[in-house]
Amino acid sequence: MLNGTTTEIAERKALRINPAKTCQPIGAMYAALGIHGCMPHSHGSQGCCSYHRSHLTRHFKEPVMATTSSFTEGASVFGGLANLTQALRNIFTIYDPEIVAVHTTCLSEVIGDDIPTIIRKAREEGCIPDGKLVIHANTPSFVGSHVYGFANMTTAMVNYLSEKTGTVLNQVNVIPGFVEPADMREIKRIAAAMGVEIVMFPDTSNVLDGPLTGQYKMYPEGGATVAQIKSAGDSIATVALGHFASHVAAATLESKCKVPAAFLELPIGVSATDRFVDAIRGYAGVEVPAAIELERGRLVDLMSDLHQYFHGKRVAVSGDPDQVIALTQFLLELEMKPVMCITGSPGNAFEKRMHELLDSVVPAAKIKQNADLFELHQWMKNEPVDLLITNTYGKHIARAENVPFVRFGFPILDRAGHRYYPTIGYAGATRLIDQMLNALLDHRDRTCSEEWFELVQ
Ligand code: SF4
Repeated sequence: MLNGTTTEIAERKALRINPAKTCQPIGAMYAALGIHGCMPHSHGSQGCCSYHRSHLTRHFKEPVMATTSSFTEGASVFGGLANLTQALRNIFTIYDPEIVAVHTTCLSEVIGDDIPTIIRKAREEGCIPDGKLVIHANTPSFVGSHVYGFANMTTAMVNYLSEKTGTVLNQVNVIPGFVEPADMREIKRIAAAMGVEIVMFPDTSNVLDGPLTGQYKMYPEGGATVAQIKSAGDSIATVALGHFASHVAAATLESKCKVPAAFLELPIGVSATDRFVDAIRGYAGVEVPAAIELERGRLVDLMSDLHQYFHGKRVAVSGDPDQVIALTQFLLELEMKPVMCITGSPGNAFEKRMHELLDSVVPAAKIKQNADLFELHQWMKNEPVDLLITNTYGKHIARAENVPFVRFGFPILDRAGHRYYPTIGYAGATRLIDQMLNALLDHRDRTCSEEWFELVQ
């Protein structure tokens, strides 16, 4: 498998092989699912919407609902005004959502459809019932990535919904970034343990990891309510997790409603989680409870106990930029060596931050934005690593190179636990350690000679 990958690396500018990213609308669709009672709407052809829904369904193992403007040749030539107007009329008549979140696709972006004008006309024509809402984000896939789509839709929530009434509410906004429902649940658990009221948006917990009840609900219990997102304009502060997925929305809220923001990285590992806990502690004016300190203590103990397995291990990491940045810091806390770190998303901020993290400790580390898995594989062929951490698409490389492999990030299409077990927070770091250790030791057990096949490791 992938045995054709060559060791000689040719300069490529306009060609991606095995991309490490996907379409903007996938991120927008995922963010929209984090609003309670929301129908994501794909303004483009049916194929885009089908692909985006199925990709999310394969990752979350849950049916993902979304509607489409169903472009055909006519809309492709004359624009999608009629399609979106009819779509909105049908959606509110048939599916009765509280809100529709429209995102564009490559086709409607190339045509140049003016979505705000179409929404305004649809409202004037009575296609949008009183009290119902429609928001939109521009998400062309020929720029950015799914992370940008997530960021754009989250920013649209602020632009369309958040309001400042003048009464400051005793709550802190959290913009969680493109993370799992389990991570969002973990953020809420940490905040609740600290006694801090938070408004988190988007919030896909209880939407894409809900219980089996025997009854189908098109709009599950979870999701940030429109009222909550509106109230974000009255919060004490915003804690935004991840430069690429969350910071723009927080900055928009700061400038629109004067809500001060802390621009943090994803709380993966000890120090990043410390910064997150400290931020909400400081804004809410509370003490960190003993239960959270105990969790942290258990994690540090585990890191110390297992240090010999991780120290000096060479790691290749690929994924979304916010996740690679945060994970790299955790690997350094474990004294591992992140020697190859790529993201498929474009953005100079990734390389800048990664150089800050790695230049003094792993000076030879290869760092690249807008990269692909083919090139990462070539690097690994030339300089083998001890561990590969990336999404499901890394399994071909791991098999070809016989390298221990940990699935992390989006998408994970061939395993199930990712939506239930967080990687965020102290508890999430404990799970990551467990996954990495198991991968390393399973590989050793599989490949070592008999005299080294130990019962006790
Ligand atoms: S790249 Fe563009 S056209 Fe292709 S599936 Fe994604 S949004 Fe649709």
